[in-house]
Amino acid sequence: MKNILFLLLTLGLVACTSSENVQNKPEQPANIIFLIGDGMGLSAVSTGFYYGEQPSVFTRFQHIGLQQTSSAKQKVTDSAASGTALATGTKTYNGAIGIDTTLTPHQSIAELTASLGWSTGVVATSTISHATPASFYAHVEQRGMEEEIAAQLLSSEIDFFAGGGLARFIARADSANLLPVAAEKGFLVDTTKLAAAGTLEADQKYGFLLAQGGMPPMIQGRGDFLPDATSLAIGHLSQNQDGFFLMVEGSQIDWAGHANSTEYMVGEMLDFEKVIAAALDYAEKDGNTLVVVTADHETGGFTLGALHNEETGALNYAEIGPVFATGGHSATLIPVFVYGPGAHKFTGIYQNTEIFHKMAALAKGE
Ligand code: MG
Ligand code: ZN
Repeated sequence: MKNILFLLLTLGLVACTSSENVQNKPEQPANIIFLIGDGMGLSAVSTGFYYGEQPSVFTRFQHIGLQQTSSAKQKVTDSAASGTALATGTKTYNGAIGIDTTLTPHQSIAELTASLGWSTGVVATSTISHATPASFYAHVEQRGMEEEIAAQLLSSEIDFFAGGGLARFIARADSANLLPVAAEKGFLVDTTKLAAAGTLEADQKYGFLLAQGGMPPMIQGRGDFLPDATSLAIGHLSQNQDGFFLMVEGSQIDWAGHANSTEYMVGEMLDFEKVIAAALDYAEKDGNTLVVVTADHETGGFTLGALHNEETGALNYAEIGPVFATGGHSATLIPVFVYGPGAHKFTGIYQNTEIFHKMAALAKGE
C-alpha cells in the first residue's frame, strides 16, 4: 500500500513538473499564415451561415477577438493605413504604405520574419502592388505609387507572390520593363497560369502575375485562383525548415462592398472561406502554424437585414434581404479569428496595430 502511495505521489510530481515545463516554454509558431479579407465586417463573415455550406469554416475557430481600425488621422481608415497597421504595428495616415505620419519606414512582419530566416509570400486578388499586399513589403508615401511599389516588391525579401497587376511591371509610365529585373533578382515569373502543386523548387523565388489589373471577380469566373495560389504558396514556402510567413488577401470583398452588391460579396466570401479552410487544414496537420484571419476594415455598412417588401413596406423576418449603408468604408469593430500556438493571446478588444505586435512576439518566441 505504501509503495502504491509512493508511486502515485511520484507520478503526480512528475506530471506537475512536466505540465509546468509546458507552461514555461514560450509559444513560438514555426509558421504564420495571415489571411486578410479586405472590407470583411461581421455581416460579411456571417454570409456563409446563410448562403454557404454548413458548418461555416469560421466555426473551426475557438479564439476570437475584436480590433479597432481607425487610422492615426481619420476615424474611418483606408486600406493603406490599416494595412500598414496590421503589417507593421504602426498607425499612420490614410494612403500611407509601410511608413508612419513622419514618413519614417517601419519593418513589416514579413520583413521581420525574413530576418529570422523564414520564407515569405504574398497573395492577392487585386494587383499585387495594391495597398494591402504592398504594406507587407513596400514603404511609400501614397498607395497610388503602384509602379514604385512593384519595383520595391522585386527588391524585397518576398520569395513568392501571386495576384494581378502585370501592367504595373510592363506597361509603366516610365516605359521600364520589370520582368527582366525580376529575373535578375532571382524570380521565375509566370504571366499565364499558376504552377501545378509540388512542382516548385525549394531555393527558387516565384512570381505569378495573372491579370493586367485586378483578377476577375468570382461572379465573372475567377474560379479557384485564390485557394489554389494559397495551397501553392504553402507547399512552396513550407520547404524552408526554418519557417514561413504567408499573407493572403481576399481583396475584392472590399470591392463588393463599394459596389453595394450582395451577389459579388457572397461570391468573394465563399471563395475566401476556401482559403481559410486550406490554411486551417495545413495548420492542423502541421501542428505548429499560427493562422490569423481578420479584415483591415468593414466596407459598405453591409447588414443582413430582414427582407424588405418594396410595395407594402413590410419586413419579412423569414428571409434575409441584405442592405448597404454606405458606398465607402465604416469604422465598425472587426473580428479576429485565430488558430494555433499563441491563439489565446488574440482574445479581447484591441487596436489593429496589436495584431502585428502579437504576431512579432510569437515569431520571436517572446
Ligand atoms: Mg486590399
Ligand atoms: Zn475599400
